[in-house]
Amino acid sequence: MPSRKKYKYNKKELKKFRELILAERNRIVSELGRINNEIKNASDSGSSGSNYASHLADSGTDGMEREKLYLYASQEGDYLRALDEALERIERGIYGKCESCGELIPKKRLNVVPAARMCIVCQTNQEKNQRG
Ligand SMILES: [Zn+2]
Repeated sequence: MPSRKKYKYNKKELKKFRELILAERNRIVSELGRINNEIKNASDSGSSGSNYASHLADSGTDGMEREKLYLYASQEGDYLRALDEALERIERGIYGKCESCGELIPKKRLNVVPAARMCIVCQTNQEKNQRG
């Protein structure tokens, strides 16, 4: 008799993942709040005619800093969406299943990357394909 393979996590395991994702989600939400504040401050200090206004040489770096913050914010925003999708998969009871090969993604990986949609093998293959 072949051993019965496990294709999804049970309710208790899903509950733990859910807690993990919610904690991660909270962290990202507060992080996004912080970034948005920094962006706001960066714009404020640029227009308020402070001492820094005379340092024209620095204005380039300010712009770059702000751009970095925007990029960071959009990355965190993407991550937030990925976490929301993971929560949705938990609700549907399909969380932890690789979207490509249907194998169960190991707990070890999900604990590190709770928003993972694919097992490490499929993820690596996809990244290879995307690079061409
Ligand atoms: Zn896979």
